[in-house]
Amino acid sequence: MAGRLEGKVAIITGAASGIGAASARLFAAEGARLMLVDTNHQALASLVENLERSGAQVISSQADVARPTEVAAAVDATVAKFGHLHVLFANAGISGRGLVPEMPLEEFDRILEVNLRGAFLCARYAIPQIAISGGGSVIFTASELALVGSPGAAAYCASKAALLGMTRALALDHGKQGIRVNCLCPGAVDTPLLWRSAERLGRSVDEYRAEIISRMPLGRIGQPEEIARAALFLASDDSSFMTGAALVVDGGWTAR
Ligand code: NAD
Repeated sequence: MAGRLEGKVAIITGAASGIGAASARLFAAEGARLMLVDTNHQALASLVENLERSGAQVISSQADVARPTEVAAAVDATVAKFGHLHVLFANAGISGRGLVPEMPLEEFDRILEVNLRGAFLCARYAIPQIAISGGGSVIFTASELALVGSPGAAAYCASKAALLGMTRALALDHGKQGIRVNCLCPGAVDTPLLWRSAERLGRSVDEYRAEIISRMPLGRIGQPEEIARAALFLASDDSSFMTGAALVVDGGWTAR
């Protein structure tokens, strides 16, 4: 049986870890040819090696999504290798915790630079290629914190809410070209990013985990593979009438 992304070419950013790595494995298993982008060269190389061993067609680029020349080069390399581009999963992101009066300006700038400007740059260079390829799907990884607040996370919440705004506007701009633009709003997911947030809040991982679970309607933290399946839905034709939307996959957190 053909995979749900058979014949598709996809770029995934933040692909070396967590949600991005789980998505890379799932997209490859569903037949996509992949360009994986991350700043972490070592983790990226080992993921590519594993995927190639299972027969996937995959290339990678050690690029910082906040740098226009690096993003442009990754998009160019994708089209040079595979001839097309159909899916952009702009997923790279960083967390950041701290009260606004105490947060160094450089930290605020870097959160916005990676989470918002990074997604903007990926869209900027990928969308024209997706249009030339006859249309496709753009997916941003926002967060449940685009929809609700979280103590000590003003900069992160701002960056993710802005992504939601950009999703809606891009959906209007590019729908007629057959390009759908949606964002994913994951809740707490078991990845290094979540546990770095615990550190920043001065909490132990166990304490932080227990607190999240106690308030989570489904009574557990999500797994990266559960977000990857939602990304696959948005990337594939299964979501063919969906654009400008936020897909919330948060174990019920925002229902509270
Ligand atoms: P993660 O830390 O496991 O993975 C993020 C990856 O992005 C890492 O491999 C990192 O090297 C890469 N990256 C960071 N900055 C980059 C840059 N400038 N250029 C290229 N790559 C870069 O974290 P994750 O949880 O898988 O995060 C993926 C996305 O999901 C992020 O946008 C994050 O904000 C979002 N998210 C995560 C959670 C969660 O609880 N884990 C919840 C909601 C949203």
